[in-house]
Amino acid sequence: MFKIGALEKLIHELNRLPGVGPKTAQRLAYHILRTPDYSDKLQTALQQVQDSVHLCAQCFSYTDEPNLCRYCTDSHRRGDLLCVVEEPADIMRVESSGVFRGKYHVLHGAISPLDNIGPQDLRIKELMERVDAGLEGRSLSESGEPAPKIIEVILALDPDLEGDTTVLYLAKALADKQVKITRIASGVPIGSDIDYVDDRTLGRALENRVEL
Ligand SMILES: [Zn+2]
Repeated sequence: MFKIGALEKLIHELNRLPGVGPKTAQRLAYHILRTPDYSDKLQTALQQVQDSVHLCAQCFSYTDEPNLCRYCTDSHRRGDLLCVVEEPADIMRVESSGVFRGKYHVLHGAISPLDNIGPQDLRIKELMERVDAGLEGRSLSESGEPAPKIIEVILALDPDLEGDTTVLYLAKALADKQVKITRIASGVPIGSDIDYVDDRTLGRALENRVEL
């Protein structure tokens, strides 16, 4: 017999997920209760994610590989093209557009003075370090292998106030380095919570990126 309190707690937790309203949370909770084994499988999956997923030491996307993620270690991807995104989920969107075969760097947000988020709260220092190491032929890894020289940094950030502020900041910070800085064609949101842009639109925005 389930206590009503336990069910309400589950609904409350599901309701906290982005995009899940109270009604959907209820539907999901009853579905979990009704479906044999589902609760166990969900628990296992959540535990595994908790135990094994961490940030890639180089691009800061999520990975369950020991150190670097599969994008960073993929030798078939161009090491001289770097696509900068706000969130790890944005990588999936760029990937499904199918037009980008370089490496990534995740900022984990965008500059937002209103929310007290400044450059120091994002992975901007690490981005500069990657660009600098490549230009100087220095190594960033334990292997001692020199970091690849980056010739272009593509800013695939959202076309909102925070995205624009971050683009301006990065363009200025990268201006004195021997690297081309581009931004994906304007007006195309790539944020994971904005799902109405289809893959082809994002693909075109990447192909028609503009130099800053
Ligand atoms: Zn990585």
